[in-house]
Amino acid sequence: MRHAGHDIRIRQGVIEAIGLLTALPDERLIDARDCVVYPAWVNPHHYLFQSLLKGEPQGLNKSLTAWLSATPYRFRATFDEQTFRLAVRIGLIELLRSGCATVADHNYLYWPDMPFDPSDILFSEGEALGMRIVLCRGGATQGRTIEQDLPQALRPENFDHYMADIERLVGCYHDPRPTTLLHSAPGAQVREMARLARQLGIRLHSHLSETVDYLDAARDRFNMTPVQFCAEHDWLGDDVWFAHLVKLLPQQITLLGDSRTGIAHCPQSNGRLGRGIADLLALEQAGVPVSLGVDGAASNEAADMQSESHAAWLLQRARKGMFATPRYDGGTFEGGGDVAIIEDVVCWGSAGGAQILGLPQSGAVQVGMLADIAVYRLDDPRYFGLHDMAIGPADCGGRASLKALMINGRLIVENDHIPGLDLDAMRHQAISAVRTL
Ligand SMILES: [Zn+2]
Repeated sequence: MRHAGHDIRIRQGVIEAIGLLTALPDERLIDARDCVVYPAWVNPHHYLFQSLLKGEPQGLNKSLTAWLSATPYRFRATFDEQTFRLAVRIGLIELLRSGCATVADHNYLYWPDMPFDPSDILFSEGEALGMRIVLCRGGATQGRTIEQDLPQALRPENFDHYMADIERLVGCYHDPRPTTLLHSAPGAQVREMARLARQLGIRLHSHLSETVDYLDAARDRFNMTPVQFCAEHDWLGDDVWFAHLVKLLPQQITLLGDSRTGIAHCPQSNGRLGRGIADLLALEQAGVPVSLGVDGAASNEAADMQSESHAAWLLQRARKGMFATPRYDGGTFEGGGDVAIIEDVVCWGSAGGAQILGLPQSGAVQVGMLADIAVYRLDDPRYFGLHDMAIGPADCGGRASLKALMINGRLIVENDHIPGLDLDAMRHQAISAVRTL
């Protein structure tokens, strides 16, 4: 839905009115003439600690499994508290500067005797920057090989400890207003986790079917598909979302759609690791709620929501085009230029993510919604000559400068600047941290 050229009044964090309005004496005015206003993005799948592992040479040209060993698993346990905090901060700032208000961090590497609590750091960094954080507290209670062969970050947790920590985190951080499932825990525990989550009123998130390895593993170990495994263990429903879902058989798409299980589509990371391109169009048609996530920066050197939406737009069209065949061979269409229109892509990246995370008051510029708003100033030559300025932030690629980013009506980015943030100092900290790692 589009609005043209009107005013937006925000009061107490909520959009109070949209239309031709006159500023009241006590109101602060942001002049958004010649700007484009979007709902702030919602990113439902990230690994913020990877923000210091971009382009890591040993993993750069590898597919998923080899990349996991070469980069995130190898480095995770070497992060001290300060390094972890810096990585989180860099990732959050990159997202903020693309106009993103909410991020779900899939933090799943916890091991016995961790030297600090990464969950607390995620929330405290989010709070310091004014960003909305959803923690997906993952974990593994079994390893895939014998324990002493595993890097420290992959040593399994005790199941009771895992469940107790989930309850503790809900007690500390859950606002009641609105992992790799196959390998990381035995089936009975997977079902117990779903039961506890529903009892606590929180949602369920994992990766699924990123590569053919998932299909092979589910067939070998359970004689079923990965989605069937989820169905058997109570991990489907409108309170569940999976990242990736690249490799799916048709009956898996039906199961996901019928149960309204969501997808966090991560096209850039899927491309970087050579996983393939998820069939969003089939998933959406089947009834799957669609959202866009950046995945971790160790497999996505452009971990911001403008880049991600741009990639989603292009790749869904390219994907459909790949299946075009000549008419003489039974073909019925020429290419994929008619799918994934920009309005759909923006909706996936905002309202879609909010729905999946259970935040129905975010993700749209409408009266009564939270004032999570990105105001883009399209002042780069890239946008000069654009016939429809409204599509610019998503279809031109790159990062548009932000006149303003509001989260809950609070001004977080102003004239492309986060007050109090010294980007140059942070750049030097990052250089030094990469050297240490
Ligand atoms: Zn992922």
